[in-house]
Amino acid sequence: MSLVIAAGVFGSGGNAGPALADTAQPDQSRKYLVERVDDAAVAQLYADGFNALPLEQKTLIWHLYQAAIAGRDIYYDQRYAHSLEMRDVLEEILTHAAGIDPVTLAEIQRYTKLFWLNSGPYNNLTARKFVMKIPFDAFASAARTAQKSGAKFPLKSGETLDAMLKRMQPLFFDATVDPIVTNKTPGQGKDLLQESANNLYVGATMKDLEGFKERYALNSRVVKRDGKLVEEVYRIGGRYDKEIRAIVTNLEAAIPFATPNMKEALNALIQWYRTGEDSDRAAYDIAWVQDKDSPVDTINGFIEVYMDPRGHKGSWEALVYFVNREKTEEIRKLAASAQWFEDRMPWADQYKKQGVRGITANAIDVVVETGDSGPITPVGINLPNDQQIREKHGSKSVSLSNVNEAYDKSTSASFRREFAWTEEEALRSEKWNSVASELTTNMHEVIGHASGKISDKLKGSPQSVLKEHYSALEEARADLVALYFIPNPKLAELGIVAAADQQDIVRAEYEGYTRNALAQLRRIREGTQIEEDHMRNRQMIVRWLMANSKAIDVRERDGRTYYVMVDPKAFNEGVGRLLAEVQRIKAEGDYEASRKLFETYGVHFDGKLRDEVVARVEKLNMPSYTGFVQPRLEAVKGADGKITDVKISYPLDLTTQMLEYSGRRK
Ligand SMILES: [Zn+2]
Repeated sequence: MSLVIAAGVFGSGGNAGPALADTAQPDQSRKYLVERVDDAAVAQLYADGFNALPLEQKTLIWHLYQAAIAGRDIYYDQRYAHSLEMRDVLEEILTHAAGIDPVTLAEIQRYTKLFWLNSGPYNNLTARKFVMKIPFDAFASAARTAQKSGAKFPLKSGETLDAMLKRMQPLFFDATVDPIVTNKTPGQGKDLLQESANNLYVGATMKDLEGFKERYALNSRVVKRDGKLVEEVYRIGGRYDKEIRAIVTNLEAAIPFATPNMKEALNALIQWYRTGEDSDRAAYDIAWVQDKDSPVDTINGFIEVYMDPRGHKGSWEALVYFVNREKTEEIRKLAASAQWFEDRMPWADQYKKQGVRGITANAIDVVVETGDSGPITPVGINLPNDQQIREKHGSKSVSLSNVNEAYDKSTSASFRREFAWTEEEALRSEKWNSVASELTTNMHEVIGHASGKISDKLKGSPQSVLKEHYSALEEARADLVALYFIPNPKLAELGIVAAADQQDIVRAEYEGYTRNALAQLRRIREGTQIEEDHMRNRQMIVRWLMANSKAIDVRERDGRTYYVMVDPKAFNEGVGRLLAEVQRIKAEGDYEASRKLFETYGVHFDGKLRDEVVARVEKLNMPSYTGFVQPRLEAVKGADGKITDVKISYPLDLTTQMLEYSGRRK
C-alpha cells in the first residue's frame, strides 16, 4: 500500500536522465555499478547534499543512522527464524578464509552476497529459497578450516562443529525445506501461515486465528503454545528487547538535534517501542505525519505488511534521509492540486474524498536504509499505513531521488531494445523513460495512495476483508491513478511537464508499462505464479487491458513475443474503467471481485513465455534486481567527546559494509 519498487525497465541508463542539481555536482565518472551476483546488481548509493548540511543536521543524521543499524537484525529474524544463525556461520567463514579451497570459497561468497542482499535465504522477488551450489562436504570442510583459523560458530551447548553443520545442512542446501517465505496462494486446502516460512507465526494456522483478537496486530509474533495462541510483543522487555533498547538509546541521543515537531515524533516513537501499545503506535503515526517541514527525517519501526500473508504484521525497517529541495518543488505542485485530481477521478462520486488534505511530498536523498528497506530499496514511500489516520491527518510521501539516480546510472539501455517492437519505441523510451517514471512514481504516491474514500462499514480497514489481495489491489489503484492522469493538460499547466513533450512522455510511459508486464517475468525463474504485490498489480493491469480494450497487441517476430502498446487513447480509456472498478472493490471491500481480478489477470502466467523472456534477458546479462551499498558515516569528536563533524564516505563494496554492520570489521 505504501511503497513503490522499481519497475522492470529501469531509468534511461543513457544520457537522457534528469539534469543533476548544480549545488552538488558529482564526479560524472564515479562508479555506480559495483558488482554483479547472479541476477542481482550491486550499486553504490550517493548522498551528495550531505556535506553541505549544517553540523546540527549532520549530528542528528548520525544518531538516526546508528538507530537504523541497531535494528537491522530484527528484520533478518522476522524473515526467517534461522537467518541470523546462518549469517553468523557464513560471516565467520568469510572472515577466517585462509586455506579454504578457492572454488568452495567463491561459492560461499556468492551465496553470502545473495543472502545479504535479500536479508536471508529467500529471494525478495520470487519469495523462494535459494541454496548453496557446492557439495555439503566441501562446505563443511571450509567451516572446519575456518574454525582452525579462529572462527567462532554459533554452537549450541555441548554441540560439535560437525553436529552443528549437520543440523544446519537443510537450511543451506535443501530448497524443499521451508521453500517459500510468503505464500499467499498455497493451493486448495493448504494453510497460508503453515506454507509461509517467515517467523511472524509459529505453529499457528489461519483457522487457529479465526476469532482470536490480537492486541498487537502489527507488532507481535503469534505463537501457538500448549494449544493456546500467545502474542510475543515487539517492544522493550518483549521480543527484540536488545535491539529495540539500542534503537531507543540512539533515538534519545538524536532528540536534542531535532526540530520541535520532529522531537515530538521521536518521543512518540520511543513511547511506542516502550509499550508496544497500538494507541502509542497511532500517536506516533500522527506525530510523524504532522512533522511536515523538518529538513531531516526518519522512518523507523514495524511498517510494511507485505511479508505477512495475512497482511497484519509489520516488517521492521529504517530509513534516514534529508530533503532534496529542488526536486521537492515539483512534487509540491502536484500535492497542492490533490483535490483537483480527486474531483476528476473516474470513479463513482460516493468514493470521492472531500477536502483532501495533509498530503506532503518530498524528494529525498537517503543516507541509510536497513531492514525491510535495505540493501533492496523502494523508490517511493507513502506512510502511515493506518487508513483512519490517513483519512483524518493525511500522509507523507517521499520519492527517493538518489536511489532513482543510482538505478538510472547503474543499468544499461540495451534491455528495453530487446522488448521494444520498433526502433522508434526504443528511442522514445531512452529519451523519456526516466522523466516518465519519476513523474508516475510521484503521482502514484502523492495523488494515488492518498486518494479515494471507502465505505464506513469497513471501519477504515479494507485490508481485513480484502486480505491477501489488499496490497496488490492498492498498488494497482495508485498505479492506475498515475496512468490515468499522465496525459492530463493539468500537468503542463502546473509546469510539471512541457506541453510540447507530454504526448511523447505519455506514449513512452504506456509503452514501457506494457513492455514491463512481459519483461518482469524474468524475475520469476521458478513456478508460474507471481507472489510479489507490485508485480501482480502490474501484470493485472496490462493483461486486463489486453482483454478489455484495444490498447495492446501481442505480436511475434523471429520466435520472440512482444507486448505492443498501439493506442494511447484506448489505453487511457481502459485505465479509467479499470480504476473505477478497483476503487469500488476497495471501497466496498469486495473480496470475491478482487480475488477474481487477480486470479484471472494478475497471479498466473505462462511458463513457456517466461522461459523465452529469461533466455532473451540472459543473453543481455541484465539484473533482475539491484541492492545498494549505503553511504557510510563517521563521527569526528573533539577532546570533550562532542561531535565536531560527521564525515560521509562510499564503501563501494557490499562485503565490507555488511561485515561492518555485523561488527565483524572495524
Ligand atoms: Zn505504492
